[in-house]
Amino acid sequence: MVRRIGCVIFSILLVTVMAGCQKAEKPAEKPAAEVKQEVHWGYEGEGAPANWGKLKPEYALCGTGQAQSPIDVDKTYKTALDSIAFAYKQTPLKIVNNGHAIQVNCEPGSSVMIDGAKYELLQFHFHAPSEHTVQGKFYDMEMHLVHKNEAGDLAVVGVFMKKGQANKIMQVLWDNLPTEVNKENVVEGISVDATSLLPKVRGYVHYYGSLTTPPCSEGVNWSVIKAPIEVSEEQIQKFKTLMGVDNNRPVLPVNKRFVLESK
Ligand SMILES: [Zn+2]
Repeated sequence: MVRRIGCVIFSILLVTVMAGCQKAEKPAEKPAAEVKQEVHWGYEGEGAPANWGKLKPEYALCGTGQAQSPIDVDKTYKTALDSIAFAYKQTPLKIVNNGHAIQVNCEPGSSVMIDGAKYELLQFHFHAPSEHTVQGKFYDMEMHLVHKNEAGDLAVVGVFMKKGQANKIMQVLWDNLPTEVNKENVVEGISVDATSLLPKVRGYVHYYGSLTTPPCSEGVNWSVIKAPIEVSEEQIQKFKTLMGVDNNRPVLPVNKRFVLESK
């Protein structure tokens, strides 16, 4: 009898201990390190630009890079730069909200010649306000036309956008904005030509920088066109409402770089 009671007590204890163990194990399912990795990069809170370099080892350059973008365009060296030869074509409209920007993906066939090298246009996307500033001044928006050459080097052309008249091509893009994030909207029967989003006068500044989003890879050939194009207040607001946050990385130091300006 005593042995049986002892056995029952032992069993109860064992169950209690096991239950205790199970309880203790629960928090271990989500270790702190794992929770930390779930912070996605963005433009506010823990994932804000100031923290990008610490979010993942492959984003380290965002924090330590010395040739980063964007920059404030201030001191420039005027020189005889070749004008950029744009050879863009109509491309079927494929538009996506990737959660960080609105992006138009381009089919092969559109290219630019920059400094004697040919780069294919991959995509273009938008930021509000501008990422580059000119002597500390922001424009309302900035478009980035992202190109790649055969060697895999990137060349990005930046176009400033300021409040003014409505832009027809922007309207076509904005009328076909996808409602879902990361779902590409392939719009039947509509083609766009990015040439229509370029200003007529295309003097530019040139420097070597980086991607302005993680992993912030360097060696990007940047050309920022000085003259802005115009977009309406409504078009700017529609973009800002959709993004819900300013999607511009703050400017970074020029450090030992030279910023060239076409004459
Ligand atoms: Zn960009």
